[in-house]
Formats: sequence, structure tokens, C-alpha cells
Amino acid sequence: MADEPRAQVRARFHARCAYCGVHEDAVGATLTIDHHRPRSRGGTDEVENLVYCCARCNEHKGAYWHEHDPPHVRLLHPGQDELAQHLRESDDGCFVGLTPEGEFFIQRLRLNRPQIVSYRRARQAEAKLTAELVASRRRVEELERSMFDLRSALESTADEIERRSKGRR
Ligand SMILES: [Zn+2]
Repeated sequence: MADEPRAQVRARFHARCAYCGVHEDAVGATLTIDHHRPRSRGGTDEVENLVYCCARCNEHKGAYWHEHDPPHVRLLHPGQDELAQHLRESDDGCFVGLTPEGEFFIQRLRLNRPQIVSYRRARQAEAKLTAELVASRRRVEELERSMFDLRSALESTADEIERRSKGRR
């Protein structure tokens, strides 16, 4: 495939496998370009039919096309379907189907293979740490403001004491 549509598809899916979510940096290589409707099933090279995809998802997907192949459930298109309506990521990193299409998508592409589940768990842990870091920074800023206020109060009290002691002399 020419470089230009490849770059366009890569950018559209943010350099992640649009099926399992793995980033190409985690794979250590660029990913493949999948024809959502396989060429052998009449799919074209139109960008709308192309999905950035890791080798394993591509392999599991194979030449499946619902009009030809059992169980005749449409495979969701990550660029056209709102995946969040069909599946969700649970706290343990597994995808859970919310609709028959979502369940089929997870099962066909083996989206709960152990390696991708631990990848998602690592990302969740990272997101949690980032949130904690942001909260800690905010708390430090609050404490710094309180310290500033206390210091000002302390200084004006010291000034007041000095003024009064001068007055008594
Ligand atoms: Zn994948």
C-alpha cells in the first residue's frame, strides 16, 4: 500500500490497534493495515475501509465478513461504530460485551488475551498514578497558600507586638 493512505490510517487511529488498543510503541514496530471488509470479500482500498491493526488482531480477524461467514454477526468498525456502546473495559482490564456485536467482537478478535489484559491493567495503573500525582500537586499548592497566609498573619502579629512595646517605652 502507498505511504499516504497508510499514514492517514495510522493518524486516524492514533498509532494504536483500533481493535485491541495496543500502541505501536508497546509493540515496538509499526502496525499493519487491515481491510475491514476483506479484499477477498469485495472490500476496497478506500480509507474508510482501512483500520490500523496489530498483527495478532489481524490474524484473528482473518477474512471474516458477516455476509459470507457464520455466525453472520457484523464485526464492529472502530472508525464507524461507537465501540463504547458495545463494550466496556472493566477494572481488571478485561473487555466486557454490552451487545451481541460487542460480545462477538471480543470473542472473534480474542480481545481478552492475557498479554493485552495485562497491558490494559498497566495503563489503568498509570492513569491512576497520574491522577494521584495531579491531586498531590493540588494539595501542595493549597498548603503553600495556607503557609503564605500563616506567615503573613505571623508577621503582622509581630509588627503589632513591636508597635505596642515601643508605645510602652
Ligand atoms: Zn490488536
